[in-house]
Amino acid sequence: MNVQRVIRITEVGPRDGLQNEATPVSSAAKIAFINALSKANFAEIEVTSFVRADRIAQLADAAQVMAGITRSTGTVYSVLVPNERGLDGALAAGAEKISVFVSASESFSQRNVNATIQECLDKLRPVVSRARAAALPVRGYVSCVVKCPYDGVMNVAQVREVCARLLEMGVTELDLGDTIGAAVPDDMDRLLNGLQSVAEPKDMTLHLHNTSGRAIAVAERAIALGVVSFDSSAGGLGGCPYAPGSPGNVATEDMLELAARLGLATGVNVDQVRVATAQLRKDMQGSKA
Ligand code: MG
Repeated sequence: MNVQRVIRITEVGPRDGLQNEATPVSSAAKIAFINALSKANFAEIEVTSFVRADRIAQLADAAQVMAGITRSTGTVYSVLVPNERGLDGALAAGAEKISVFVSASESFSQRNVNATIQECLDKLRPVVSRARAAALPVRGYVSCVVKCPYDGVMNVAQVREVCARLLEMGVTELDLGDTIGAAVPDDMDRLLNGLQSVAEPKDMTLHLHNTSGRAIAVAERAIALGVVSFDSSAGGLGGCPYAPGSPGNVATEDMLELAARLGLATGVNVDQVRVATAQLRKDMQGSKA
């Protein structure tokens, strides 16, 4: 029997992409972007983040965006939440899934959110337990799983410890981030083998950045090792804010092209993704004028 292998793509452009774009985007343009993405038939779209407006001004309209979109059956609409207050907003907005985040690197955690890994985990525990009590799945993002901008190459045991703690508190999906896009294909062997005792490759999601132009090669190696779930951003939205022109999130279109080349089904309509991206770029140009 010929079984069609399947790759699951989570579209994170509306949240992780826009969060890293300096050009302000109106709520109406975001809603139109998400509605266009919905027509592409993603398994999941991460819509926004319920984060304090003074932290990320671009996503201050999270509630309006959630209220304004037209949801498509077959797509899960998730949101990122940093704390219990964010969870309150997510629940009120009818989020179908939440994402929480923690760094595998102590230095990155302290510089990025001014808290130790332990403090972050302590803060997330009630968020995860309340979300699970509300029957929501919870994705746990772990950043800097390959390399940290401050600490260098990450020790896999440290990554494994953070993953284990997230699973213990009830997170339903681990999402491993190569936050600075430093990974080479061989890093996937080291990482995924090292995490076997806490999670199988088929149960993890990868969040790759194309900063060094290797995200697709890394994804291809991960697929060979059994990973079937990836995040990507339409049009590669969300280039690194500190290095203009340098790509951040891997582009959804590139991931879809890789899946097609490997004969793997995604269910996502790449032409419709291009329509969504083009429409958003036009709206962003308009708001610059
Ligand atoms: Mg990202």
